[in-house]
Parts: sequence; structure tokens; C-alpha cells
Amino acid sequence: MENNSIASTTPVYTLSVTADLSGIPVHSIRQYIDKGLVIPFKKKSSRNLFSQLDILRLKYINKLLTEDGLNIAGIRTLLALIPCWAVRHCSEKERESCQAFLSVTYPCWEASEKGTLCKNTNCRECEVYGIAENYPDFKSFIKAIIT
Ligand code: SF4
Repeated sequence: MENNSIASTTPVYTLSVTADLSGIPVHSIRQYIDKGLVIPFKKKSSRNLFSQLDILRLKYINKLLTEDGLNIAGIRTLLALIPCWAVRHCSEKERESCQAFLSVTYPCWEASEKGTLCKNTNCRECEVYGIAENYPDFKSFIKAIIT
């Protein structure tokens, strides 16, 4: 993963510019969005915009696919395993009805029914969603949670 400390989070790049800058084809980026691996910023016109940090995330996902032997279903499963409740410290009461807590097949940000804490949070800005940008690998993240 490239250094993200100076990557801007401001969404300014269109899909085609993002494809040029990342070296990832437009159709692949669309697929990553469709599968819930990336959440673009949506303009009122419903066009997607991307930031520098989004581009790093796209490149990270692309690396998992092209170099690390994962497929899209495998990445979704990995993202679904992130213990969001441990990061956000939601109550047991909230977990009872939260699909993000109960599901094992999709990332928490794809859940249709979320607890109140998550309902009021923009997933693009959440630490759980940002794991791909903020940790070099999943194991580093798990270590950060439990130590
Ligand atoms: S705010 Fe979104 S990304 Fe963060 S834990 Fe909740 S559902 Fe997941």
C-alpha cells in the first residue's frame, strides 16, 4: 500500500480521470463500486467523484486481485469479517438488530439495517471503511484492535 498520509480526501476526480490516474480501467472501477468494495462520493447529479485517497484504495484492491490471488468474492468476505462493533463500540442492544453485525457475507457499509450510530455516519469517512487505506494489511488492523 502506498503512503496515504498526504493523500487528499477531497473528491475531485471524475471516473475517467480516476481510471487514468490509477491505471485501472473504468469497467473495473465500476465493478468494484457495484460489489461494494469502494464507495465513491456522489454528486447531486449522481455522478461519481473520487479523491486521492480513493485512488489509493482502488489500487490496493487491484493489487489484492492481480498480485495476491484474491477474487472479488474473497475481498468482500474479508471486508465482511472486519469487527466494526469493536471499532465503533456500539452497544449490545444496537447489535441485536444491526445487519452489519449479523451478516457474514457483505461489508458492514452495505448493510440495509444499521444501528443508530452507523445510521448517522458517512461510511466514506468511517475508520472501518478506511481500513484498506489505513493499514498495510488486515493482520496489522486486527493487531491494532486487540492490543
Ligand atoms: S458507519 Fe458504515 S463503515 Fe462505519 S461501521 Fe457503520 S456501517 Fe460500517
